[in-house]
Amino acid sequence: MIKENLEQIRDHLPENVTLVAVSKTKPIELLQEAYDFGQRIFGENRVYELVEKSAKLPKDIEWHMIGHLQSKKVKSIGPFIHTIHSVDSFKLLKEINKQAAKHERSIRCLLQFHIAEEETKYGYDLAEIRDMLNSSEFQDLQHVEITGVMGMATFTSDQRQIREEFRRLKTIFDSVKAEFFSETPDFKEISMGMSGDYEIAISEGSTMVRVGSSIFGARS
Ligand SMILES: *Cc1c(COP(=O)(O)O)cnc(C)c1O
Repeated sequence: MIKENLEQIRDHLPENVTLVAVSKTKPIELLQEAYDFGQRIFGENRVYELVEKSAKLPKDIEWHMIGHLQSKKVKSIGPFIHTIHSVDSFKLLKEINKQAAKHERSIRCLLQFHIAEEETKYGYDLAEIRDMLNSSEFQDLQHVEITGVMGMATFTSDQRQIREEFRRLKTIFDSVKAEFFSETPDFKEISMGMSGDYEIAISEGSTMVRVGSSIFGARS
């Protein structure tokens, strides 16, 4: 099953789009199965699952944190986390920098923007980002690498609305890139698109899709 699902999704992905296999709530065996079919990038939304799964699975896996992250929990993923998609405050970014420094490494971070209409989804708006990126405190962070932006569309069946929200994230990416990262080739990721909407996301410029249930089956 997982093999067929992965093959089907890979067939739909342009070469420049990275597939993050979202394995939250799924048992190790299923992740191992995806690994055996070549998947090396996995996304989780809880710290304890990341810690547990990363300890048990092969060391060449790239672990991505995609869920809301509390500053006090960064410590336990500091030694191994590859990318954090859900950076939504300066406080969190500074803590990530501190923990990465302890392990003499650098952690990739995506700035999460609030593009959905729901109040519940976390994320920055452009004014907050400008304040942060313009601050001297930000310039001093040596152990985080800002590699792009992330966003989640509204949970709706209205395809046009989803498309508009993804388009807004692409516009945000372009303006942040132009204003702050025009000399930074590694600022290039637009993490948007899940099982239900990744094809729309790709047509609106996504470079990273986070797909769970279409690979591993529905979560209970
Ligand atoms: C769960 C989750 C996904 C994957 O959702 P599916 O609909 O199962 O593909 C993607 N992004 C985030 C932030 C998630 O929490």
